[in-house]
Amino acid sequence: MLKENYEKILASLKPGVRLIAVSKYKPVSEILAVYDLGQKCFGENKAQEMKAKQAGLPADIQWHFIGHLQTNKIKYIAPYVSLVHSIDSFPLLKEVDKAAAKCQRVIPCLLQFHIAREETKFGFQREEAEAMLDSEEFAQLKNVRIDGVMGMATFTEDKAQVRSEFVSLRQEFDYLKSRYFASEPHFKEISMGMSDDYLIAMEEGSTMVRIGSSIFGGRDYSLKLSDLV
Ligand SMILES: *Cc1c(COP(=O)(O)O)cnc(C)c1O
Repeated sequence: MLKENYEKILASLKPGVRLIAVSKYKPVSEILAVYDLGQKCFGENKAQEMKAKQAGLPADIQWHFIGHLQTNKIKYIAPYVSLVHSIDSFPLLKEVDKAAAKCQRVIPCLLQFHIAREETKFGFQREEAEAMLDSEEFAQLKNVRIDGVMGMATFTEDKAQVRSEFVSLRQEFDYLKSRYFASEPHFKEISMGMSDDYLIAMEEGSTMVRIGSSIFGGRDYSLKLSDLV
């Protein structure tokens, strides 16, 4: 099933769109099976789970962190994470910078924007992002690099609403690109789209889709970390 699912997703991607295979709550055996099909990029939303999996899997896997990151857990991912999609506050970005400095590396990050109508989703509003990007403190950060934006649409059947939320993320990207990052070629990523909405996301300019259940099947949230590694 994994092979069939994976190949179907790959075949449906627009040229230039990167697939992040979201492996949260899935065991390392299944990650390895998808890795063996050629997938090198995996996404996790819990720092300790990512660390435990990373330790036992091939070193050329690129690990993308996509969940809400607590500052006391950055240390579990800082040495190896390829991209943090979910920077949702200035304090968090500063802590990631500190942790990256300790590892003597620069950690690529995306700014997560609040585009959904739901109250529960994390992320910046434009004014907050601007206040951060305009600040002297931001200019001092040497161990993080902002590569673009990320967002999650509302969980709804209303496709027009989902589309309009993706359009708003695309507009945030365009605005930040022109105002702050025009001369920085690495600011080019728009991480949007999950199993149920990635086709719409790609139509609206996504460069990275984060797909879990359409590859790995449904998740069993009762599993513990010890069941996965
Ligand atoms: C779980 C998760 C996904 C993948 O969701 P699916 O619906 O299983 O594809 C994508 N992005 C984030 C931030 C997630 O937490």
